[in-house]
Amino acid sequence: MRKLVELKEELEKCVKCGACRSVCPTFRVLGRETACARGKLTLIDACMGGAIEMSEAYLKHLKECTLCGACRDTCPKGVDTVAVYNAARVDAVQKLGAPLFASIVFKNLLESGRIMDVALKIASRLQGLIFKDGTLESGLLSRFSLPVIGKGRLLPPLARQFFLETSEARGLPAPAKTGQLKVAFYAGCGVNYLMPGVGKASIEVLKKAGADVFVPAGQVCCGMPAFASGDAAMARQMALKNIEVFESFECDYITTSCATCGHGLKHMFADVLSAAPELKKRIEAFSAKVIDINALLVNVLKYRSAGKETGGKLVTYHDPCHLNRAQGVRNEPRELLKSNKDITFKEMAFPCSCCGLGGGLSIVNYDLSIEITERKIESIRASGADIVATACPGCIVQLRDGLHKYGVNARVAHVVELV
Ligand code: SF4
Ligand code: SF4
Repeated sequence: MRKLVELKEELEKCVKCGACRSVCPTFRVLGRETACARGKLTLIDACMGGAIEMSEAYLKHLKECTLCGACRDTCPKGVDTVAVYNAARVDAVQKLGAPLFASIVFKNLLESGRIMDVALKIASRLQGLIFKDGTLESGLLSRFSLPVIGKGRLLPPLARQFFLETSEARGLPAPAKTGQLKVAFYAGCGVNYLMPGVGKASIEVLKKAGADVFVPAGQVCCGMPAFASGDAAMARQMALKNIEVFESFECDYITTSCATCGHGLKHMFADVLSAAPELKKRIEAFSAKVIDINALLVNVLKYRSAGKETGGKLVTYHDPCHLNRAQGVRNEPRELLKSNKDITFKEMAFPCSCCGLGGGLSIVNYDLSIEITERKIESIRASGADIVATACPGCIVQLRDGLHKYGVNARVAHVVELV
């Protein structure tokens, strides 16, 4: 990955036109210069030049950002803002150290699937003591204010049985059948620990589409949360572990139903491992096989829904930033939804605006994160949709919380659950 000093030319490309302000979700809420790309780039430049000190306040401004990429897409000078932010976060964490909570989670839990599993399994048994039913599809509300989580946030319950433990996910790949594409499924933490139903629906639809699908054992967190927090070393370890796991199975494609994981597998792995030239060929071979499940179903497997029953609902679609902007997958989820004749599809206003979750914002600044969500919820309310479909477990969590908070009654579902 390029270091911040190597990105100096990106900073110099900025002509301070301010076009990025008009699309920035954090600027829309905060209304101050440091919230938008122009202000952040100025701050980073000032810090690099020694005009301001690297401090917690500096890092706070850097992290007032969902890493949605809207500024990068809008910038007339093509400044790769997200690459600069990521490098600046890594630089800051190297100098200031990672927050204690993040260190504990990433170093002692995410690093090892087994420890993570045991800790979360215990937590899943105890969650009833700390949380109560908050409804809107059985989300949970904490009974009292908790560190990091706070109070009043609707959270998904931890699954009693994690996806990677289910019969759908276990077992080795079957011997290849002629003409069938062999597809390895990457679950990711959201699907594994919170939404095993999305994992099962993914396997089911891939099979219906004619793929020979299997779920490699030993896969771990993709590392995107660690990377977004600036802990590139941890992200690197996770990337390498996953590459080793998937290399041990032959397959035509590696797919996932998580937009963030898909972006991580396809792009971030190459980014964080680029300093190791001996890995280049392996990373390229791995990344070339990664494809989002919507794109795989529509473009490769030519799947169209045979009409999964939804009760004739009005469905709208929210574009996850990591799918739309980061992977260029926009039409495929819509095509899938429209192919189900039991769905009436209606586009919402601003479908590509960020839900507010990304970049770790919902952890480091929940109030800002959920204020960003409010605009999205207004779009959903105005669409009149019964169901909001999307293609990222993270967005699902944020949208459910926002719908609950702003009093809009709609179901949130992953595309694969509706087709
Ligand atoms: S749109 Fe691009 S060039 Fe203009 S201020 Fe923002 S980052 Fe700079
Ligand atoms: S990545 Fe998104 S939130 Fe961050 S500065 Fe750019 S537009 Fe704003």
